[in-house]
Amino acid sequence: MITIILLICIIRALRFKPQPKVEKTVEPVSFDKQKAVNDLQEMVKCKTISNNDFSLEDDAEFKKFEDKLTEMFPRVHAHCVKENVGRRGIMFHWKGKSAEKATVLMSHFDVVEVDESGWEKAPFEGIIEGETLWGRGTLDTKSTLNGCLQAAEKLIGEGFVPNNDIYLCFAGDEEISGPSCPAIVDEFARRGINVQLVVDEGGAVVEKVFPGVSDRVAVIGIAEKGMLNLSYTVKSKGGHASAPPAHTPIGILSNACAKLESKPFKANFTAPTLALFDTLGRRSTFVYRLIFSNMWLFKPVLSLIGKMGGGEINALMRTTCAFTQMKGSNGRNVLPAQAEMLSNFRIMTGETIESTVEYVKSVINDDRVELNVVSGNNPSVVSRTDCEEFEIVKAAVGDTFPDAVVTPYLMFACSDSQHYGRISDKVYRFSAQSMSADERRTIHGHNERITFKGIWECVEFYLRLITRC
Ligand SMILES: [Zn+2]
Repeated sequence: MITIILLICIIRALRFKPQPKVEKTVEPVSFDKQKAVNDLQEMVKCKTISNNDFSLEDDAEFKKFEDKLTEMFPRVHAHCVKENVGRRGIMFHWKGKSAEKATVLMSHFDVVEVDESGWEKAPFEGIIEGETLWGRGTLDTKSTLNGCLQAAEKLIGEGFVPNNDIYLCFAGDEEISGPSCPAIVDEFARRGINVQLVVDEGGAVVEKVFPGVSDRVAVIGIAEKGMLNLSYTVKSKGGHASAPPAHTPIGILSNACAKLESKPFKANFTAPTLALFDTLGRRSTFVYRLIFSNMWLFKPVLSLIGKMGGGEINALMRTTCAFTQMKGSNGRNVLPAQAEMLSNFRIMTGETIESTVEYVKSVINDDRVELNVVSGNNPSVVSRTDCEEFEIVKAAVGDTFPDAVVTPYLMFACSDSQHYGRISDKVYRFSAQSMSADERRTIHGHNERITFKGIWECVEFYLRLITRC
């Protein structure tokens, strides 16, 4: 019996090969490369830092940013209808040959806070060194906003008319999950606009992220996980630490934490993950091909690998739980009257905030621990990959990065594009730049910067995308 199973597995693995690559010639695109760099440099100089406390935002910087757009992209402003929507939403309507269906190219122009002490160069001065532009927002995500507007400005100048209406929609409060993007989506719904394709920031062109695959990979997010911040509170009478009870609030919390870490969520292989395994598994080494071509047999093995190793592979297959904060008393010898901890969950497609809390309750199984949902959102809708719109995005990605393998994937981070799930099942998340692991770490971190090549890749991608829309 075992021999037969092994034989079946090996045959399946041998047949598990990528589609033969169709050789094609890609037409080169041209655009003003210097302008693309200069404009992004100017955008970075605007300190558009969003803050949950709106009163701490610098409105003048946001105004400066919007004014600069008017200067930099005169044709877009003259040719498209511009509207300000919601708190900090900007929407350009670019009329196509048909208004029957519409494409939305979205981005955000707010950035996260910086801790300047950790930066090697000033984050808001647009410093250029060699062929690299430094600054907060260069990768996340003024680069995609710039790419989109550079492409539109050039194409409008050439008299290009897209097949369908295109809306360029930018929000100034994405990083704080602000109300601008939801307000824009409300407008589309209210006006009854048939939004078919939506493209936002997301996956990139990456290397060495999948076991056994040496090719460059362009990952297009077709869904994103949900997020939940859950707090755990235990109360006690407090008192002196010299005669403690058998279990202190911190002891009880630690026990809850240990239980949850040793009992991770069940593995759940959803469509985006299976699509990724299928595309990349075919390009991997034989051992991995054996596993990924026989998911019917190896799901438990993969689940175990994820459980033990954690990291990105694990995040692809289950809801993850990371304990991030804990607080007790202020005195070294004082029992806390109240102890608290917090964990951040990334919720898998198909699950919800409620089901996550239910699972936590059942694992902890301790009434002394009080749970509270601090904030969160459910996972996004999974976008289709069996449609013309996905092929359009895939082709634009493939032409911009001809050597890369293009694949759908599940995004772990949350973005504004989740709101579009209400009106479209074709929402794709892709930031058209090659990014090393080191570069990815600078997003929301220190020393964020982009190479000129990255700036140009973004423009090229949008040129290739828009001319297909
Ligand atoms: Zn972003």
